[in-house]
Amino acid sequence: MKAILPYSTIGVFGSGQLGRMFAIEARKMGYRVHTFSPDTDTPTGQVADQETTASYDDLHEVRTFAQSVDVVTFEFENVPAATVEAAAQFVDVFPKGEILHTTQNRLREKTFLSENGVPVTTFRHIKLTDDLYHATDELGFPCVLKTAGFGYDGKGQAKLKAHHDIETAFAAMNGRESVLEAFVDFEKEVSVVCARGQDGAFVHYGVIENDHVNHILDVSFAPAIVTEAVRSQAIEIAQSIAETLDYVGTLCIEFFLAKDGKLLVNELAPRPHNSGHLTFGPCVTSQFEQQVRAVCGLPLGSTEFHRPAAMANLLGDIWQNGEPNWAAALADPSIKLHLYGKAEAKPGRKMGHLTAIAETVESAVDKVRSARQKLNDQGNGAGRQT
Ligand code: AMP
Repeated sequence: MKAILPYSTIGVFGSGQLGRMFAIEARKMGYRVHTFSPDTDTPTGQVADQETTASYDDLHEVRTFAQSVDVVTFEFENVPAATVEAAAQFVDVFPKGEILHTTQNRLREKTFLSENGVPVTTFRHIKLTDDLYHATDELGFPCVLKTAGFGYDGKGQAKLKAHHDIETAFAAMNGRESVLEAFVDFEKEVSVVCARGQDGAFVHYGVIENDHVNHILDVSFAPAIVTEAVRSQAIEIAQSIAETLDYVGTLCIEFFLAKDGKLLVNELAPRPHNSGHLTFGPCVTSQFEQQVRAVCGLPLGSTEFHRPAAMANLLGDIWQNGEPNWAAALADPSIKLHLYGKAEAKPGRKMGHLTAIAETVESAVDKVRSARQKLNDQGNGAGRQT
C-alpha cells in the first residue's frame, strides 16, 4: 500500500456535485484535483485545479489524464468499464473497476447481493415480453420494472399495478435489458454510508433515514428512528458487503425497511451519496473526506456527529418564481447552505441542499424543512428570473 500524500493530484471521473464536495475536501487537505467529464464549467470543474472536457470513450484523452494524476476515483458510476480499464493501466483506481462493473447494472448488483446472502426483494431478469408475463405470474402485483443499466432517481422505472400494465411497461423499457422487482411495502427507507480503507479499516455513520418525493431524495436525517436491532443489522450488512467487494472508498447501501421489520438492500452506490451530505459539516469527517483518505491510503477519520443532523435537497423547482430568498432561509443561524454552481435550474434537478444540526433529530428535520419553505417567501432576494 503506497500512500498518496498531500500535494499529489487526485483524478476524478465525473464532474457533478459529488465530485465538487470531494474536491473541496481534497483541496482542504492540500491535494490537487483534476476532473474528467464530457462537460465544461461543471460543479466539480469550478473548484478543481484542472478540468478535462472529453468523451469517456476518447481513450487517448483518458490515458493522457491518467498519466497526469497520482490516483483516480469517480463520482459517477456510469463511467464506461473501458474508460476505467484504460486509466488503470497507468494509475490505481479506487474503488476498483470490477466494483463499478457490478454496481452499474441492477441485474449484476442484485445477483451479487443475493449470491452473497444479502437480503434483496425477489427479482427476475427480463429480456422478452414473455419473461415479463412469467415473472409477473411469479411475483404478483404490484411490482416494479427497472432498466438494468443507467437508471437513477426513479428514471427508467415503471410500476405495474395489474396485468393490463405489462405491455406498456415493457414498451417503456425500449428493448433494454431490465429487472422486475417485487414491490416492497416499506415502512421507511434508510441508508448506511460507510468507508473502507486500503488497510481494511471500516467506519460508518450509523443509519440515516431518507424521505423521497417523486422517487427523488427529499430529506435525510441521522440518526434514523429505528430499533437497535435494525441499526446493528444494517451496519453488519454494510460491513459484509464492503468486505466481500474488497472495497476501498466511501460506499452507500440503500435499504427498504419492510413493514414486517425486514431489511432489504435496494441498491449500492459505489461513491459518496446524497443521503450522506448531512455528514458534510455536521460530522468530524465528512463522507467526502473519507473518500479522499481511503483512495490516498491514509487512515480514515472519526465519523462522530457533532449533533443530530438533517439535510433537505434543493431542486430546480425552487427557482420557478425567481431567485430564492436565501436570507430568509439563513435567518436561522444553524442552517448551512450548499449550492452546486449549476447554471440552469431545471425542475427536478439537484441544485444544492441545506443542512442543520439540533439537540434532537426531529428538531433538525423541522429546521431544514422550515428553512427550505422560507426560500419561497417574498422579500429581499426574490425577483431574478432564471
Ligand atoms: P431506485 O432508483 O431503485 O433507487 O428507486 C427509486 C425509489 O423508488 C426508491 O427509493 C423507492 O422509493 C421506490 N422503489 C424502487 N423500487 C421499489 C420496490 N421494489 N418496491 C417499492 N418501492 C420501490
